[in-house]
Amino acid sequence: MPKQTLVMKFGGTSVGSTDALMKATQIVKDARAEYPRVVVITSAMSGVTNLLLDSAALAANGKVDSLPSTESTLREKHFAAADDLIKDEKLREETKAEINSLILSLVDLCKAIAVLGEASPRAMDAVASIGERMSVRLLGAVVNDAGIKAKAIESSEFIITNAHYQSAHPDFKVTTEKTRAILNPMLDDGIVPVTTGFIGATPDGVITTLGRGGSDYSAAVIGSVLPADDVWIWTDVDGVMTTDPRIVKDAKTLPEITYSEIAELAYYGAKVLHPKTIRPVVDAGIGLRICNTFNPTHPGTRLIANAKVNGKVDGQVVKAVTAIRNQRLVTIEGRGMLGVPGVAARAFGAVASTKTSVPLITQASSEQSICFAVPSESAESVINALQAVFASEIEDEDIDRVWMTENVSIITVVGVGMRHTPGVAGQVFTQLGNNKANVLAIAQGSSEVSISMVVAAADTELAVRSLHELIVH
Ligand code: ASP
Ligand code: MG
Repeated sequence: MPKQTLVMKFGGTSVGSTDALMKATQIVKDARAEYPRVVVITSAMSGVTNLLLDSAALAANGKVDSLPSTESTLREKHFAAADDLIKDEKLREETKAEINSLILSLVDLCKAIAVLGEASPRAMDAVASIGERMSVRLLGAVVNDAGIKAKAIESSEFIITNAHYQSAHPDFKVTTEKTRAILNPMLDDGIVPVTTGFIGATPDGVITTLGRGGSDYSAAVIGSVLPADDVWIWTDVDGVMTTDPRIVKDAKTLPEITYSEIAELAYYGAKVLHPKTIRPVVDAGIGLRICNTFNPTHPGTRLIANAKVNGKVDGQVVKAVTAIRNQRLVTIEGRGMLGVPGVAARAFGAVASTKTSVPLITQASSEQSICFAVPSESAESVINALQAVFASEIEDEDIDRVWMTENVSIITVVGVGMRHTPGVAGQVFTQLGNNKANVLAIAQGSSEVSISMVVAAADTELAVRSLHELIVH
């Protein structure tokens, strides 16, 4: 059966200027020629979400003096594009008026926050959602003006979530019903729904957001509940790269990557996809592609279910290298921990109480220490929580100390081929040793799709460059 339904998500830079919006519009046109049913999802214009959240944070400290300049920045950004691209005067003026009233609602919200002296997570979501609520009107009008039948619609009408503000979780059952009920009639009429990424609403209709960078996840959710045949994520790079091109100049785009590899990459710092994006599309068996709005003829990176030959894609064992910076290694150390059950549970309970997530854990079988990484900004509160929970063990000297390193980076090599290839860990550590990058801790997931090691912050580039040499070009 020919492919029917395509969901395309445009990231912030892909709708961030007149030029980008023109390119995005052409992409919608081309897609429409290939797929009878196309749904478009948009992020806020680049920089807008940060600006909105900063205004709310300032307001919470009673600072509202920069609001007029924020207002004019937002107006200029959206109006310039509207003026350039919407030829139909009525449509243009209506669109600008709607965007203007959203900007005024931002001002009201910030003033209210300033009066209260605090911004609740719920208020932060109301503020953050304004970015997508503006861009969806702009993009919807631009696409319409270019002769494509399209309708802007806010995803809060059909993505129904719990009330976990700033990181809300969709109720898939209700979301499926509502999404189909609202989008299918439009698609049947040949209309392209242009909808907001990032936002949903509680069953009572209060706006929520799915977390920073959550528009990718919105695309996956909408794609999986419709269901779509394909989900394409349009960004500003040619897909998933072998590493950060700012560190290694000859980093390359990977034509294909497996779901498990991209999950590791997204988790370990490659900012290509929101980590939550992968699961709904894998579960629904939907094709996912990451492509470049500014280089649309480049095939980008396709997500594939399984690697081809013997677990190896293109003969590659190591496929990509990532770095997460600004971490600290926290160690709990003491001979009295040997064979005592529950130490790890209490330790991670204490960490969880600080709402910190832990990207890497190691424990040697001697059980004399547990060591894990946390983001630098949370390290202090984690140490305090651990000292509190183990106060009596520290007093009795069963635990000698709880301490943390200076800033470190987690370097991860990823590749499904590692699962079937003995000796990869050996190569990795030899390579680091030969290049004199000192390894402070090591972890390998049981999936064997990645190996992570911790190095001092100053060794980050060195480690990434030397490990990137293991990738065969
Ligand atoms: N605009 C939101 C953010 O910046 C969501 C997204 O772009 O994916 O986090
Ligand atoms: Mg993004």
